[in-house]
Amino acid sequence: MSKSVIISACLLGEKCRYDGKTKAVNSVTEAYKEYEIIPFCPEAPIFGTPRERISVVEVAGEDRIIKEETKEDVTELLEEEINSFIDKYPDADAIVLKSKSPSCGYKTTPVLDENGELLRYGDGIAAKIFQTRYKKTQIKDENSTFRL
Ligand code: SF4
Repeated sequence: MSKSVIISACLLGEKCRYDGKTKAVNSVTEAYKEYEIIPFCPEAPIFGTPRERISVVEVAGEDRIIKEETKEDVTELLEEEINSFIDKYPDADAIVLKSKSPSCGYKTTPVLDENGELLRYGDGIAAKIFQTRYKKTQIKDENSTFRL
């Protein structure tokens, strides 16, 4: 059986970003051309595309995912979507997530305070859950050097 890789769908050319655009990165697709590619995007199925932007906001010491304009807290909605994706694809040999995203970013996502000021850089909600559920698989992003 071939190896599998989970890749953020916008890196694969899908127009699933909040603004309806893509962020295709050919070097990622090229690096994993021998793998079975499993596209991942937790936001588009819930909110549609285009959609209101969301951010990681620290509220009472906890990272929450909040819509920028309506201030709706959508943390649980995303958790459900991400966990059901992992239930469907419990094994992956590699993971490449889009940097800086409130969902997909790994160590690169701006974490804001409740006034919208930058507190630090951290993980998007999917990167955080992936680390606990794909324990043996290292997470990379599109800026990683691809050595297979
Ligand atoms: S960064 Fe993640 S959530 Fe955002 S569009 Fe890409 S795949 Fe979807």
